[in-house]
Amino acid sequence: MAKIITRGSKKGQPQKRTKIMDIQEEAVKTGIPASLCSEPLDLERAHEFSRTMEGYQDRKLKQEKMQKYAEALELYQENRFERLCECGDYLRFLLDEEKEKAKLERANFCGIRLCPVCMYKKSRKEGFKIAVVMDAIEKKEGKQFIMVTFTAPNVKAKDLQNEIKKYNDAFRYLVQKVPEVQKICKGYIRKLEITFNEKRGDYHPHIHVLMAVNKSYFKDRTYLSSDKWLHFWRRVMRDDTITQVDVRKAYRSINKKSGAYEISKYVAISNDYTYSQKVFEVFHWALKGRRLITTSGLFKDYFELFEKGDLEEFTKKDETYYKYLISFDWKKAESFYKKRYTGLAKNDSDAVAAEAEFEANRLKLDQPDQSDQPDQPDQLLTGPELPNPTKSEQPRPQESPESTPIPKSTP
Ligand SMILES: [Zn+2]
Repeated sequence: MAKIITRGSKKGQPQKRTKIMDIQEEAVKTGIPASLCSEPLDLERAHEFSRTMEGYQDRKLKQEKMQKYAEALELYQENRFERLCECGDYLRFLLDEEKEKAKLERANFCGIRLCPVCMYKKSRKEGFKIAVVMDAIEKKEGKQFIMVTFTAPNVKAKDLQNEIKKYNDAFRYLVQKVPEVQKICKGYIRKLEITFNEKRGDYHPHIHVLMAVNKSYFKDRTYLSSDKWLHFWRRVMRDDTITQVDVRKAYRSINKKSGAYEISKYVAISNDYTYSQKVFEVFHWALKGRRLITTSGLFKDYFELFEKGDLEEFTKKDETYYKYLISFDWKKAESFYKKRYTGLAKNDSDAVAAEAEFEANRLKLDQPDQSDQPDQPDQLLTGPELPNPTKSEQPRPQESPESTPIPKSTP
């Protein structure tokens, strides 16, 4: 049975049914083209999703700043630069019934390391992977985790690259040559992070290390206090001015301060590196060609298993019922994400077909002069009668609408 749309209803409050709900529900059930459903998708109370979009809006603005810097500094080849400029111009989400949970279903990404849009996506993906791997290591190997953050005094721009190298060498020495650490470390993920101090104009590289340790670690003789960690870190860095090493137990949940969250966080905060062209240039060269994440031991092994698809038992399947499809275009002139299509989505492939149909109709309506046409109002559509194009086969509608055969859907 199709589910009931709960427009703006809150838990515990009675739901007011409207006629439009009946129509929509009917459309979902029977596949009647929901162009009958003329009421636009109401996102007013979709607070969670609004925040998601605010995030994208913010990151896209930062990216525009970055584009300017990159262009002035001529950092990327032409096609890479083009991809950067287009990155995140198109976003398509699936939304659940309550319009609270959104899943980014399709978008165009550039993959450039410092692109704020891509960095966010990448860190979410990494966080998920790390959480799965931690779960597997905990259950299959009987280990637990600690999170160690190694820092040192800030450095000026000219010393940043050397400082990063120094960190990496010191850390390698620490895990390979210091017996006390060797004894407890069953594998680690090491992640580099750099922040910029705007007031002092200097840089703060540091490394987060998520380490697998024995279940008995906190109780047995191998346990290392934070003073011990500090002692070792000072020694391998040959720097007695270092004041602290932060050590804590780590968890796999993707919440703040837990292991998976902390380690998958961005290598740099976009606020920092888009501070100015000069700062951006420093970040660019400091990170260029560098491996930001390294793994060893159990983490290395389990990352490989994850990539091979062997950790499926630890991957929680997303069983959300996604009811809506909504997509956005970035309007460069206004620096704003504008809604392009909203509709009902029975499942992913239907959603793709529905939007393609919408797009084809829009293009027909727009003939002969597309440039002066006002944007189409939101419509609710569904396309369950259409053949099922797979995600990979279906081209992005706006790229080649003419070449996409869109059969007419029959009422
Ligand atoms: Zn990007």
